[in-house]
Amino acid sequence: MLNNYIKENNDTLSKVVENSDDEFSDVQINTPPVEVESDGEIVEQINSYGKRTRIQINYSFTREFENIEQAYQFLKDDSNNIWSRLRIRKTNDGDKDCYKCNIKNCRSKLFILFHDESESVSLWNSDILHEHSSNSDEKIYGINQITKDQIGILYRTRVKTATNILYAHREKVSEYKDKKFDVDQDEINPLYVPGLQIPTKLQINNYIHNTFKPKIEFGEGKKKSKFSYGDLQFWVENNLTIPDNEHETFVLDYLIEYNPLIPSASKIRLSLSTKNLLKIAAKTDHLCADATLSICTGETSDDFSFVFNSLIKAQKKLFDYNYRPRTLIADGAEAITNGFINAFDYENLDFKRVMCWAHVLRNFDKRIYFITEEANRNLIKEDIKELQKSYCTELFNCGYELFEKKMA
Ligand SMILES: [Zn+2]
Repeated sequence: MLNNYIKENNDTLSKVVENSDDEFSDVQINTPPVEVESDGEIVEQINSYGKRTRIQINYSFTREFENIEQAYQFLKDDSNNIWSRLRIRKTNDGDKDCYKCNIKNCRSKLFILFHDESESVSLWNSDILHEHSSNSDEKIYGINQITKDQIGILYRTRVKTATNILYAHREKVSEYKDKKFDVDQDEINPLYVPGLQIPTKLQINNYIHNTFKPKIEFGEGKKKSKFSYGDLQFWVENNLTIPDNEHETFVLDYLIEYNPLIPSASKIRLSLSTKNLLKIAAKTDHLCADATLSICTGETSDDFSFVFNSLIKAQKKLFDYNYRPRTLIADGAEAITNGFINAFDYENLDFKRVMCWAHVLRNFDKRIYFITEEANRNLIKEDIKELQKSYCTELFNCGYELFEKKMA
């Protein structure tokens, strides 16, 4: 049971001592006395089996602030959690300003450590993860459907901050307008919404967060708004099946390499498409890279090669078609060209490399700034636009020669 408990708490508890009330427990574990120590504290918790347990909380350094005001502001701005002060404690390490998360059922804690030698302070978070489960949401919210609907309307009309939503609610809550003098007649408030409550900012933020922020669906109806590499892997594996629906996205191919030592060096390659898009691609002879059908952590030729290969595999699997476009349209990046060569095995460069016109135009503007006369700039631009209309390579080359001569 102890093992289960540790597993359930995701190894966040460094030391768990069970103090069982269960009459069937036959071995009394030698429990340490409940006391507050300078490097950690022991608190009582009710575990998921309804038993009282004692756990030791460990704190670890999170970040430093120049002064205490900054630290207080940081806690105030933390919209996900609500921190309320427990006490200020004197310890051997220095004075500690201790806080607990005030969201119902959450036991997460932190303290701000005052440094003896300077104005700076540091923030230390407990190893108890925040527990803001949806089961208790109703109790946390404590706002009725009318109020929720109003928050929703405001949020969708781009009133996004809790403060502004709160102000808007205050204007709608009473049936009559505010009186300037007691003798004034009642004037109907046109904004009045019957049954509306004034929510707190926390309630607004919680409601918005749980209702409107994008969430990723996992099996068994579980939803998350943040996800890990493991979650991504899980999501990918659940989206590898080719759907019946032509327009439904699925994963063509993927690579997830998590580097636990250097997380920023982790690699993700993800290639997505739909049956319909692949069908269209199979009918054409050109491939336009740089369209967002893939997500990679890098832009190396290996990344591009991976994406192109995923298309080859998918075309083969879906339509038994050997996909090999003969024209590559993309910006000038060599990585794309090399990725294309590798994936489609173009040793002799017998494919056409077409510059993406949008990229050309954008770069053109960047390079031509040294010509001060706008009229002259436009003349050159017009020439290039004309050149672009060439319907075959021969005509283009011929036109380009003329253009070069003119410019020389
Ligand atoms: Zn919390």
